[in-house]
Amino acid sequence: MRQAEQVTFGGSGLDRAAHLRDDPAALAALWEGGNCRILLIWRGKPLCTLPSGAAMVSDSAVVPEALTWIRPDHPVVTGTAAGAVFLGICTSGLARFSVDISDWQPDNLDDMALRAFVDNSEQQHPDLPQDTGFVELRRIMAQLSREDAELAATARAVFGWHHSHGHCACCGTKSDMAQAGWQRVCPSCDAAHFPRTDPVVIMLITHGDAVLVGRSPGWPEGMYSLLAGFVEPGETLEAAVRRETAEETGVKVGAVSYLSSQPWPFPMSLMFGCAGEALGREITIDPKEIEDAIWVSRQDMMTVFEGEHPDIRQPRKGAIAHFLLQNWLADTLD
Ligand SMILES: [Zn+2]
Repeated sequence: MRQAEQVTFGGSGLDRAAHLRDDPAALAALWEGGNCRILLIWRGKPLCTLPSGAAMVSDSAVVPEALTWIRPDHPVVTGTAAGAVFLGICTSGLARFSVDISDWQPDNLDDMALRAFVDNSEQQHPDLPQDTGFVELRRIMAQLSREDAELAATARAVFGWHHSHGHCACCGTKSDMAQAGWQRVCPSCDAAHFPRTDPVVIMLITHGDAVLVGRSPGWPEGMYSLLAGFVEPGETLEAAVRRETAEETGVKVGAVSYLSSQPWPFPMSLMFGCAGEALGREITIDPKEIEDAIWVSRQDMMTVFEGEHPDIRQPRKGAIAHFLLQNWLADTLD
């Protein structure tokens, strides 16, 4: 697919400069020389510059468009380069690091908002500029520059892994961050552990001029998306597409081809967008997996994307499901 990398979180050409990860002196020089900027992450949410007039905190209609990068000597950044994740060197030549301040407890924190399908809350730290706040990445992913999107996705995924994999998988001892955040090493048995990326297939299953979409319980009313599922050990992408589609809907799939991939740091997946040709249209859903599945004609899906369908809402903008459906409608999957 020629436009494969135009997907949100598609590669921006960031130089990850992996050779510097085991060079603490070089990283310290970048940090102390001021030749770097830091992205703060709080519980998976990057620090963003709020649109002007954003005293209306949590107004879902006002979406931030840029990350906020701060200097390493800012008082909120405690510690040194050794406690940060090194993200790489951006096109401007500045080094980029990320620091997690998840221990900060905001006043009057609304825990329910953090767990909502769309978290529209913004947390403003009293010691950071007034026009900044921590914002859920899914809310802003489609607005960010390509480079900011890649950097934020990387930081979120790596810190998510540190939070969920703090102990050695071999012996259970608490492990230590190493390699500028790109490894954890066990002090007891010396095992090295690397950030995980879990493969997920997401499939554009078509039959004639119709596409198969489904919905899970708890989604916003009327929202349908492409079917998706984790790839299992010992399985190819093609087999995973056929198995997941059959398990969720009973639909049998013939030919499968790869279209595009998307890093999806919620918490640490890599989505493999595939096309699959259904062998028939009969649907038998597995209610343990999904709530509903339907075939939608190209004409009806165009109405959905115009926001004018009475019953069906499109998937979230920025998600690869939205990207694949949009390209299917535009006939640009080749
Ligand atoms: Zn160990």
